[in-house]
Amino acid sequence: MLKTRDYEFWFLVGSQHLYGKEALDAVKGNTVKIIDELNQNGHLPYRIVFKSVVTTAESITQVMKEANYNDDVAGVITWMHTFSPAKNWIRGTKLLQKPLLHLATQFLDYIPWQTIDMDYMNLHQSAHGDREYGFINARLKKNNKVVVGHWKDDLVQGQIAKWMDVAVAYNESFQIKVARFGDNMRNVAVTEGDKIEAQIQFGWTVDYYAVGDLVAQTQDVTDQEIEATLAECENEYEFVMGDNDPEYFIDHVKEQIRIEVALRKFLQGGGYSAFTTNFEDLWGMKQLPGMAVQRLNAEGYGFAGEGDWKTAALDRLLKIMGHNMKTGFMEDYTYHLEPKREEILGAHMLEVDPTLASTKITVQVHPLGIGGREDPARLVFDGLDGDAINITVSDFGDHFKLIMYEVEAKKPVEPAPKLPVARQVWTPKVGFYEGVRKWIENGGGHHTVFSCSVTAEQIDDFAKLVGVKLVNIH
Ligand code: MN
Repeated sequence: MLKTRDYEFWFLVGSQHLYGKEALDAVKGNTVKIIDELNQNGHLPYRIVFKSVVTTAESITQVMKEANYNDDVAGVITWMHTFSPAKNWIRGTKLLQKPLLHLATQFLDYIPWQTIDMDYMNLHQSAHGDREYGFINARLKKNNKVVVGHWKDDLVQGQIAKWMDVAVAYNESFQIKVARFGDNMRNVAVTEGDKIEAQIQFGWTVDYYAVGDLVAQTQDVTDQEIEATLAECENEYEFVMGDNDPEYFIDHVKEQIRIEVALRKFLQGGGYSAFTTNFEDLWGMKQLPGMAVQRLNAEGYGFAGEGDWKTAALDRLLKIMGHNMKTGFMEDYTYHLEPKREEILGAHMLEVDPTLASTKITVQVHPLGIGGREDPARLVFDGLDGDAINITVSDFGDHFKLIMYEVEAKKPVEPAPKLPVARQVWTPKVGFYEGVRKWIENGGGHHTVFSCSVTAEQIDDFAKLVGVKLVNIH
């Protein structure tokens, strides 16, 4: 996947001076054991770094300022091994500009009834400390994550892991740059939006380019570059020529490869990690980008069609959160309204993300009714089954709204031999009728991001971090 920074998370232990140096040293020893195990067992996607056992307002404020300043730090994890008077945390917590996780755990997962005494209680008083510390975070409206349970528990570690991915996506959101080739599709409402507000709220930079800038880049692509990528494609996919003459077929695949190579160079040159195209704006292009887009999606680039920069940026964001697994741009197309098997078929003209593939991916060349260009090559496959989310972002003039439901993803049960695009089927978990009705009532668009790796809880955590309203239809 497209490289992101090698992030780390800082671990702070809340304590106080009342119990003496010996107690603080013992806590430090316990903390090192916890962090070593968390780092070594492979459940966490990023490294935890032990910073310190903090006992004063000054030391807390200082370490939070350092966390803000250090670009490698994606977030801060705090543990209250005991009662840590929370007025000490006010200044530092207010200054912290990065995601915060309160790990409500304790060193042992049992009460040693035979030996427990006041010395033990001083060292192991999380139940007490969690509440004092939690109060101040609530009062400061910090919207921090709270994970409760023993640190060795797989479920606890899984929750930390998912939150880390959200925290990294939050940090990376301010680095997302979208290149738009052409403007939004004419007359379409929901793909529009306020690009300045998107940058203020989400951190996304959205830049316009004329499609001619991309056309110029395609002219510099060499035959060697095309042949090298063609060999890669022959290795990776099955070429299904259909009724096409073999030479015609390969020529059209090569044209997509030319666009792919040009797009990648263009995006790399400008530091872009997401992009849009528009079939109404293809001046000088021989084909609408299809397979080219899909292969860049596989590398982690966000994308949406018809100039929809909001969904392109959201796609990139979820790809970071989900490590570019099973996540991509989607469009609601067609209902299946058979009672008890109600479903939605999602696809797009061409550009369905191959990270969603459950079947062998084929390369096909077919005419495209819109856009008025040559037959584009595209990757065709069936989608996934299992738990997934479907999410969109809409601009309501004075605020953005994320609209989402959890869905049951389904592989299509019937072939569609005359539909030459990749297909994904799903049913909202809340029920088809209620889900669809509420989606429409809330103004959710037809362009979405579909993900089998990102969870609804992660989206909820992200929405709180950026302060954007989330409608979770459930
Ligand atoms: Mn579309």
